[in-house]
Amino acid sequence: MAPRGAIKGTGAPDPVAASGLSSLPMQEFLSAIQAGASGDELSAIPLPDSYRAAFVRRDEVGVFDGLASEDKDPRKSLHVSDVAVPELAPDEAYVAVMASAINFNTVWTSIFEPLPTFGFLDRLGKESKWGKRHALDYHVVGSDASGVVLRTGSAVRLWKPGDRVTVHCNYVDDQSPSAHDDSILADNERIWGFETNFGGLADLAVVKANQLMPKPRHLTWEEAAANALCNSTSYRMLVSKNGARMKQGDKVLVWGASGGLGAYAVQYVLNGGGTPVGVVSSPSKVELLHDLGVEAVIDRKVANYHFWKDEHTQDESEWRRLGKDIRALVGDDVDIVFEHPGRQTMGASVFAAKRGGIIVTCAATSGYMIEYDNRHLWMKLKTIKGSHFANYREAWDANRLVCEGKILPPLSAVYPLTQVGEAASKVHKNLHEGKIGVLCLAPEEGLGIDDPELRARVGEDRITLFRRHGG
Ligand code: NAP
Repeated sequence: MAPRGAIKGTGAPDPVAASGLSSLPMQEFLSAIQAGASGDELSAIPLPDSYRAAFVRRDEVGVFDGLASEDKDPRKSLHVSDVAVPELAPDEAYVAVMASAINFNTVWTSIFEPLPTFGFLDRLGKESKWGKRHALDYHVVGSDASGVVLRTGSAVRLWKPGDRVTVHCNYVDDQSPSAHDDSILADNERIWGFETNFGGLADLAVVKANQLMPKPRHLTWEEAAANALCNSTSYRMLVSKNGARMKQGDKVLVWGASGGLGAYAVQYVLNGGGTPVGVVSSPSKVELLHDLGVEAVIDRKVANYHFWKDEHTQDESEWRRLGKDIRALVGDDVDIVFEHPGRQTMGASVFAAKRGGIIVTCAATSGYMIEYDNRHLWMKLKTIKGSHFANYREAWDANRLVCEGKILPPLSAVYPLTQVGEAASKVHKNLHEGKIGVLCLAPEEGLGIDDPELRARVGEDRITLFRRHGG
């Protein structure tokens, strides 16, 4: 089926029509969900041919050529318009997306770095009949969602229309034996909405049934949508047997401690009886972390570390200064370093971990060609551990902690889908705290709470801490 308003010959939606002001093809579902419709009632509503979605276009991949990363503007490359509803595979579900969230992978897709994501879609397109649906000239992005199941494919056993869900982004075809130990190790593992099409920044999403998890009943749609990607990633990195296996009493250095990943990481350290040392870059972030219960916080702007003397040379005396600052705060070197900035910090992270410590890393925001002094690694028997998202078990367990109110959603701001470019730009420029939510079908904030008693027990103030800081 062709996208509505398609550009002739490209199959891509026309960004001129992409004002986001088109009538909502999903309106009937929204009205039914708001009226508390049953699964049977939702099943009786016909699916529209198209839905509103945020996407990048293949014919715009070169639009930022020659610009520095920081000058590439997601507001120019992320469009919102109607695209065709794809056919549903037997192991999939259509989800009416009430809310989604910005992740850094949507920033990467929207600035076409380090690679345009159309290559991922094309590779998936060669895999099977169902994979072929993804290889389009537009890429609907987004790797988080909360919403309501509308339809399930014929092979789906555990979910049904009407279920209120969140979606994790580990997209695995379980027919490969490689998927059956730790599914994130599967040879065809993908991140939904980044390496696949039909992601969560839209009014409708197509997901595999094994991506679905129960929606935390005490949270709003936008609070519920903020968690799965970053929460599961931090859980695997710190708590899982596949990660750093944090113990009670561990001291953990957390870079970007009020950011997407870090805001969950510090909560896991506190919950697990450890001591987080949070690094952030402004007084308001320091205050936010103190309010969250993190006592040891370093403002890296105030500390003014220069781990690199110049583009080619690191400065060990600056690593030592960081180590000294950590010891001044918590009395010892850290057992674990929660790493993701990459090139700018990795040398310091390897240095700062204690003898026998672990540096667990899942990213390289400031550059992926990293450098560290190997003598500090081998002589002090440290380990660098790579980590990537989470398997279903880990995502499920991390979601359970959100459902029980033991992990709080660090939602700091909310944008409508029509302003998804603005929201991604904020994350790109590091002008946010925690997570930025995006309202898709949900017409306003604050909807979707099914268990107000649990919400009251967890505490409105705690649940909305980042939102109040984010203004
Ligand atoms: P985020 O919300 O932007 O937070 C990252 C934080 O890191 C920033 O707020 C910033 O905090 C800090 N930071 C950025 N550059 C830094 C630098 N040069 N030195 C020190 N600190 C720096 O992003 P996120 O969601 O946490 O994601 C972080 C990275 O992890 C991204 O590259 C993302 O793509 C990746 N990621 C990977 C996975 C995976 O599964 N592999 C999952 C999630 C995210 P301050 O300015 O306050 O210090």
